[in-house]
Amino acid sequence: MPGVRPASPDQTALLCALLERGLLIDSGVPGVYGRGADFEAVRESVAELVTRAVAPERPERMCFPPVMPRRHLETIDYLKSFPHLAASIFAFTGSEAQATEQHERASRHEDWSEFQGMTDLVLTPAACYPVYPAIAARGELPPGGVTVDAGGAYVFRREPSSDPARMQMFHQRELVRIGEPGVVEGWREEWRDRAVELLSALGLEVRFDVASDPFFGRSGRMLAVSQREQQLKFEVVTQIAGPEPTAVASFNYHQNHFAAAHRIELASGGEAHTACLGFGLERITIALLRTHGFDIDTWPAEVRERLSI
Ligand code: ZN
Repeated sequence: MPGVRPASPDQTALLCALLERGLLIDSGVPGVYGRGADFEAVRESVAELVTRAVAPERPERMCFPPVMPRRHLETIDYLKSFPHLAASIFAFTGSEAQATEQHERASRHEDWSEFQGMTDLVLTPAACYPVYPAIAARGELPPGGVTVDAGGAYVFRREPSSDPARMQMFHQRELVRIGEPGVVEGWREEWRDRAVELLSALGLEVRFDVASDPFFGRSGRMLAVSQREQQLKFEVVTQIAGPEPTAVASFNYHQNHFAAAHRIELASGGEAHTACLGFGLERITIALLRTHGFDIDTWPAEVRERLSI
């Protein structure tokens, strides 16, 4: 299939095994899967583990749907950096005759895109994105800034692949810190170590790495180099099925990017900075299944206990 990112034989074999055991459910489209009961039990328990880990910080809980206003994506220049990953929602805007024509073409699985018009919605590409405009809308930040537990929302990235660890739609368990630059940077440093501890305690062999985002095009490659040099992105990686280790959590220091775009201001009037920490719930679940086996009942007792499964 054109546009499908090639997967290694190990990755394809792992996907087949997950489908065969009913842990994932095939949809016919690479990277879009249903999930069986055991897979969901593990995924939800990992999400819950993060909830417990962040609870002492008394974060504000915010939950958003997997779609967001197109305007917000435009405001943060997402299409400049990641045009290849973005997906916008189109809907029918025609007459009755056009509806009939659309239906007839669709029933033959032919192209019916000419009857579709762009809406004011896009699929959410990162679970933290809806948080910034919501915080900005309240006016200046309270002293000390805010910590937000953005839940475990579904996010979408258009990168079809047969690597089960690279889904098009997956859950990102995100925490967000907004405040003074030093506070935000310190928070991210602290969570870097806590996240490694949290995942190691589940029996995963993880390590921390400096990383960069998959920016688009030639100018994107320069952005990636600068992001790496400034150590704006860290990842926790583990070996799943790829020749390269896979990121299961990422820590992004956005400096003033989102705060400037949405005009988030400190109580003191200075410039706010933001950082987020995202756990890839499906990737962690797959890494756990790969490490401890597909039969959850046989997992080490301490791992089951920690996850309450
Ligand atoms: Zn984020």
